[in-house]
Amino acid sequence: MTKECCRFLLNQIAFYHDAIRPCCSFSIEKNNLFSKNYTGTIEGIKKYLEVREDYINKFITGEKPPCYNGCTIYENSEAENENFKLTTLIISHRIYCSCNCIYCEPSSYGDSQRRSYLNKQSSYDIMPILDYLKDNDLIEENCRVLLCGGECSEYPKKELAYMLYWALSLKCELLMLSSGIKYSELIAQTLKVRNNILKISVDAGTKETFEKVKRVKAYDDVWKNIKKYIKVTKKYKADNTYVELKYIIIPNINDTIKEAQAFIKKVRQAGCEYVRIDVEHEWIDKNKYDTQKHTNVKKIINYFFDELYNDKIIKIDFEGVEKDWLWSFVKDKYTIPRISR
Ligand code: SF4
Ligand code: SF4
Repeated sequence: MTKECCRFLLNQIAFYHDAIRPCCSFSIEKNNLFSKNYTGTIEGIKKYLEVREDYINKFITGEKPPCYNGCTIYENSEAENENFKLTTLIISHRIYCSCNCIYCEPSSYGDSQRRSYLNKQSSYDIMPILDYLKDNDLIEENCRVLLCGGECSEYPKKELAYMLYWALSLKCELLMLSSGIKYSELIAQTLKVRNNILKISVDAGTKETFEKVKRVKAYDDVWKNIKKYIKVTKKYKADNTYVELKYIIIPNINDTIKEAQAFIKKVRQAGCEYVRIDVEHEWIDKNKYDTQKHTNVKKIINYFFDELYNDKIIKIDFEGVEKDWLWSFVKDKYTIPRISR
């Protein structure tokens, strides 16, 4: 009997403020395994897990579940463990955020009022759900737990404390995405322990550009908080725990050598050792196959890599779903990613 299954279905669950799903495929929305209007109930997660198990069994027995038809992101995986434990948990059940990045909601690019609408959307308490997953032995050791917001430093304190404790007690690896605007003592505590990453996307080296990208006045606070977090990692030196800074290139907004230079200077001053480069995804979707539009993006990417790839302290890599495509911009000179996970 084949044990082939969809990797996302098997390994991953994402909690959003209004839904539970295994992947970002449009195909899943047209079919059953998309728990819409989810409000955080145990009944809802139970129902989701029942359908998930049914779909996994369909894959394993060679009968494809309905979501497979028309799916463009399917990836194959072996269903090895018997009770289909999770290796990735995406927690995005709250969308509140004090930042207002122009790329946060790509379809509303340029709509600065969108964030205040999002900040009013309802959410739910994730603690009982985490307990349910734990009690049913669904979490694999070293499961990656992604806190990808809204903004995890702005979750209710009690909930954030519980989530972090839950993840660390199950030996999960935390990946915490933050704007860096608010310093969280709880997040700093996790940076004393092995296998945890804090990722902050700054996207600018100067205050002027930061305010264009983030649409908030918090440039000095963000760099101050980055330094504080890095100070903790350097003091405790926990294995595989670090702060990663990200630069999302947004054409016509932060795609200049001057901006990249200023960012690298701030990275060095903060003592950061990990940098990730990405390009704004709506721009990629529109321009991926129009090579004439790539000239400047390619120039900036090459500048970052020329400056940092052989740096003795700072490691550089790409990030995001178009990571492999972005590598094609530097593949003649650089081939092996410097950051392993
Ligand atoms: S087959 Fe496609 S739609 Fe179904 S769970 Fe996998 S990635 Fe999602
Ligand atoms: S920090 Fe994240 S959640 Fe907040 S506005 Fe920016 S992209 Fe959106």
